[in-house]
Amino acid sequence: MLSLLRRQPIKPAKTAIVANNRSYSYHDLQEASHQFASILLEDRADLLEARVAFMVLPGFDYVRTQWGIWLAGGIAVPLCITYPLASLQYVIEDTQAEIIVVSPEFEPVLKAYSELNNIRFIVVGESQTQLASVLPKLEPTRRAMILYTSGTTNLPKGVVTTHANIEAQVSTLVYAWAYSDQDTILCVLPLHHVHGIINVISCTLWAGGTVEFLPNFSAERVFDWFTKTALQPVSGLFMAVPTIYFKLIAYFDSLPDEQQKALKASMTTFRLMVSGSAALPVSVMEKWETISGHRLLERYGMTEIGMAISNPYLGERRAGHIGQALPGVTIRLVDEQNQEVAPGDAGEIQVKGANVFQEYWRKPDATEATFTADGWFKTGDVAVQDDGYYKILGRSSIDIIKSGGYKISALEIEEVLRTHPQISDCSVVGVDNEEWGELVVAALVVNDTALDTSLLNAWIRELMPAYKVPRQYLIVDDLPRNAMGKVTKNDLKKLF
Ligand code: ATP
Ligand code: MG
Repeated sequence: MLSLLRRQPIKPAKTAIVANNRSYSYHDLQEASHQFASILLEDRADLLEARVAFMVLPGFDYVRTQWGIWLAGGIAVPLCITYPLASLQYVIEDTQAEIIVVSPEFEPVLKAYSELNNIRFIVVGESQTQLASVLPKLEPTRRAMILYTSGTTNLPKGVVTTHANIEAQVSTLVYAWAYSDQDTILCVLPLHHVHGIINVISCTLWAGGTVEFLPNFSAERVFDWFTKTALQPVSGLFMAVPTIYFKLIAYFDSLPDEQQKALKASMTTFRLMVSGSAALPVSVMEKWETISGHRLLERYGMTEIGMAISNPYLGERRAGHIGQALPGVTIRLVDEQNQEVAPGDAGEIQVKGANVFQEYWRKPDATEATFTADGWFKTGDVAVQDDGYYKILGRSSIDIIKSGGYKISALEIEEVLRTHPQISDCSVVGVDNEEWGELVVAALVVNDTALDTSLLNAWIRELMPAYKVPRQYLIVDDLPRNAMGKVTKNDLKKLF
């Protein structure tokens, strides 16, 4: 993003951000970011990759903080605003942050901690005045950000990306999804993760569009925003994780016919709606298409690589598939010996490209283990490819269940279970078993407590080979999920 931050905005008066019923122009954003950079640089000429952890509410201050850190030469470390102190400390200590920035709301959470640990503490706010300071000249190869992985499979790891990595991630997507300065997007995602930071905020601002923030998520507010945006001469964008679409659908279903019709008319005016971060159930994709007129564009990405594989903006968006390699990103599928698999066979996704991260922060062993000798990044995700379209089978460590000599995709079984009329959601895992290695088991969220699991078993046996059929079902109220809405399957396993 450096090249964007350092140039004069092309349309300074254009609205960049809308938050708390206020609009901020590109000029406002640029000026506030430079001003914040000056504050960070108080008595030095360059932050020299100092880690600046920030716990700032989504909105103008968030973007200004992030851009200010980048302009001053620091490494931005966004903190999850809903984490308990212990998880915040994990990130602050792991990154050895030199500066902590907070919204006034979070002063009580981190002030005492910062004082105790001698960390410079800044409350980001309106009253800061411009200081004269010359900004350092920065190379694109400088480290720009440390984002922590979602912690779905293990303790979160700090992923280091450079300015060049971020710029590659942003420019590829802007090109592939045709962002423009006509775009207006709603940000409903947490901002300590690529999905919100890169796809929603950075790409939209890179293209000169407008980002609007909701104080907090509610399905009703999102639909209100769809209605409002449809009345404006802009092109609407919406991006979310599958669980959010799930919630929007449930709310929509509860509305009277008239309101549903009006909402559908609003949503059809939108330019693009996207889903990612976790597998999009085909049932959710189909339902969303009926209620909104939009075939969701599903894409695949990771903290380590930004977006890598995507269904096309123009062209076939194939249900149950993550799409094709994005421009500038090279993908291959390999077996356990790192040999490319034959077309149609399952293999691990490996990635090369300017989008790929530098290293895991202070984890040289993990970094080394995650790249092949010839520089491919090993994602740990297994997929098959069919005429350029990839289909995810799951993570090799947790979704590929090894049972009785078979390798079984948990995601495939979940797709089938979700088509059962009494099941609203589910998650399939393998639990250790002496005889079989692992046993396939399923946790179910039901919409009808009368569900009879022996009937369910007979039903599913008609649809898939016996070795894939779950050996145990557990009915739960909710599936355990992390901040990104992903099911934490290691927690789930403990229930069996
Ligand atoms: P951790 O690495 O800490 O276990 P994580 O892998 O969930 O957490 P992220 O980087 O947020 O952390 O998520 C990347 C992962 O999300 C991918 O490796 C993949 O397993 C999953 N993912 C992303 N998009 C999709 C998608 N469209 N379909 C299926 N899985 C997806
Ligand atoms: Mg991961």
